[in-house]
Amino acid sequence: MEKKIRIFSPIKIDACYDVVVVGGGLAGVMAAISAAREGCKVIIIEKHGCFGGMATSGLVFPFMRDTEYGSEAPVNAGLYSTLKEEIYSLGGSDAPNSRKYKEEFMKVALDRMIKKYGIKVLFHSKLCDVSVKDGEVKEIKIATVSGIVGIRGKVFIDATGNADLCAFAGFPYQLGREEDSLCQPMTLCFRFDNVDWSKYNTAEVNKLYRKFKEEGKIKNPREDVLRFKYPISSIMHMNTTRVVGLDPTNVEDVSEAEMTLREQMFEMYNFMRENVAGMESCELISSASEAGIRESRRIVGLTQITAEDILGTTKYEDSIARGAYEIDIHSPSGSGTFHARIPDNDYYTIPYRALIPEAARNVIAAGRSISTTHEALASVRIMPITSCMGEAPGIAASMAAQSEKDCRDVDVELLRSKIVSYGGLV
Ligand SMILES: Cc1cc2nc3c(=O)[nH]c(=O)nc-3n(C[C@H](O)[C@H](O)[C@H](O)COP(=O)(O)OP(=O)(O)OC[C@H]3O[C@@H](n4cnc5c(N)ncnc54)[C@H](O)[C@@H]3O)c2cc1C
Repeated sequence: MEKKIRIFSPIKIDACYDVVVVGGGLAGVMAAISAAREGCKVIIIEKHGCFGGMATSGLVFPFMRDTEYGSEAPVNAGLYSTLKEEIYSLGGSDAPNSRKYKEEFMKVALDRMIKKYGIKVLFHSKLCDVSVKDGEVKEIKIATVSGIVGIRGKVFIDATGNADLCAFAGFPYQLGREEDSLCQPMTLCFRFDNVDWSKYNTAEVNKLYRKFKEEGKIKNPREDVLRFKYPISSIMHMNTTRVVGLDPTNVEDVSEAEMTLREQMFEMYNFMRENVAGMESCELISSASEAGIRESRRIVGLTQITAEDILGTTKYEDSIARGAYEIDIHSPSGSGTFHARIPDNDYYTIPYRALIPEAARNVIAAGRSISTTHEALASVRIMPITSCMGEAPGIAASMAAQSEKDCRDVDVELLRSKIVSYGGLV
């Protein structure tokens, strides 16, 4: 038979999109949907094979606080609420408003939400280069299974969590703590099955864990065992590994982190199985496909959210989302976790200007990488808030693309009214 010889050439995507979303975490998905809902031609680019980012590929669970302390009035709504309802309707949670979810159901829910709006999806595609002129991004390059592909667009949304698009474009950013650039630790989330919760005693386990640490039998720098009940009753969700002092945007550091975290996971497995009542028969069943990153690059925006804004519940005129979660800093340099709560029956706001890179004309940040201080990020980074910090920039991007304006010149009052019309809170 004749040999079929092929010579590789990358595929071409010739279209110019109104809105190009890079990163398919919750912020990216909400951004893509909200831009498409406004009638834009939208593409979303994601390095993994599913949407959800930390919530799925990172096995992060559950949604943290989405209501005010005290009154429990909702703080995060809009597409975030729709997602919770979709997960419930698929059987992935036990109530339409539950903050607990099974991530496999979330993946399907997100696929369906994206498909409903005819958004072009590129999975297994990683942003690797950005062409920019006078603050305007012209084209991005993505590394895909079909080679390096160029994508053009009018407005670009950076929803990569790490602000990859802004950094690769050469826009200034901050990294970690102001004094030493150290970031909150990376954590590998994982799961145990066959857990007998009736025998598990949290106080006793933490006492024993601390003793093992003092004796040098446990190397993990975390101060206690952070575990959660999962919606499947025999399963324990673990958020307890911790590497400190490594830079999540340095490929050598990230590679080292992945292996150190896996060793910590295995250390925890042996500790639990050999010493903890209720865990004698536990099985280590899964770990996340990548180390979880709490903090990395933050854009330098038109304004910066500070801890004073969070704790003082600042109400910005250009607010596009709300938050009520505490400042929750896992120590960037060792053991310990710092908490500072915001007042009861109140919330802070997120100004649109914090999403706009100072140096850019057609780029909006969505999700974790918006312009905050290290301390303020420790509140806004949770998933209910990053979801809302995706919906708003999607609408703003559609307004900029349709009016051919700079993102900074979007009519903010109109943006705010559109967010509210879709059930969001500003
Ligand atoms: C260990 C850990 C525990 C946490 N615990 C909780 C919790 O219990 N509850 C809670 O609410 N929040 C928690 N958080 C915070 C929360 O999970 C994240 O801050 C939030 O999910 C960030 O959302 P995002 O959409 O901005 O980014 P991400 O979820 O990180 O999404 C970014 C997406 O972009 C993709 N991407 C990145 N770079 C590129 C690129 N170059 N090209 C293409 N795609 C790219 C990624 O694959 C990902 O899908 C935790 C975080 C961590 C790390």
